[in-house]
Amino acid sequence: MRIPITMCHGTSWQPQKVKRQKNLLTAGRFERYFGIASELGFQSISYDDLAEWRNGTGDLPQRPIMFDFDHPDWSIGKLIWPIMQRFGFKGNLFVNTSPMEKTENWIYMKWDQLRELVSDGWHIGAHTYRHYRMDYLAKKDPSGGLIREELQKADEMLEENLGIVPLDFAFTSTTWSQIAEDEVKKRYRFGRLWIIGTHYDTEKGRVRFADLVGVPGADEEDGGPPGAARYITQETHPYRLPSMELENLIFEYDAFRAYLKGALKE
Ligand SMILES: [Zn+2]
Repeated sequence: MRIPITMCHGTSWQPQKVKRQKNLLTAGRFERYFGIASELGFQSISYDDLAEWRNGTGDLPQRPIMFDFDHPDWSIGKLIWPIMQRFGFKGNLFVNTSPMEKTENWIYMKWDQLRELVSDGWHIGAHTYRHYRMDYLAKKDPSGGLIREELQKADEMLEENLGIVPLDFAFTSTTWSQIAEDEVKKRYRFGRLWIIGTHYDTEKGRVRFADLVGVPGADEEDGGPPGAARYITQETHPYRLPSMELENLIFEYDAFRAYLKGALKE
């Protein structure tokens, strides 16, 4: 079984982002992506479902898929959630909690909105408090203290406002650090990475994503890691789960469809 997993930060709406970026995620594109997933018979699963399958206590639907989102962007609740509801899909949302303190800022969801997602079956994970790069924090404080503070503060805020002690974590940006992973392991069940190209920044310099996750083979022509590194299996390192950014390698509908179909080949 190979589980495809997509990631995005909501729709591409920020004016500064729109200028520098060619692949814009609009509500209309989400409609098509979810339509394709539904047409191919995929059903969304959460990290709880994943954990049960990996430890042998639960089954998955025949064609499972994970729809991950990072950051409490307003468009996730207002634009994407209603589309997903029509297709019967649920998301996994990783919240960096410092934006939740900006109550006057409309570009972020509010705690009420997050509670609505949770009551609809969305899964909430942690994504640090202030969203620093992991390699930066590790270099600044090799004892891991700064990273611990970031994780602790985010967990406290999620527990206080949603009554959820997060079990799953998404690393920030395309940065990885052994020091961060050690801290993440102490606190969480899964750690998830993010694929936008072939390489990752670590405290020891740049490494190939495929090498980091231990998948053999050459990088693909589309500018990403080997196909096998793009899916979750029983063997995937629990703290190095992949996710495929929708704005990059699988932006085009054909590439998205091919990625999902790639999960069906054994
Ligand atoms: Zn992030």
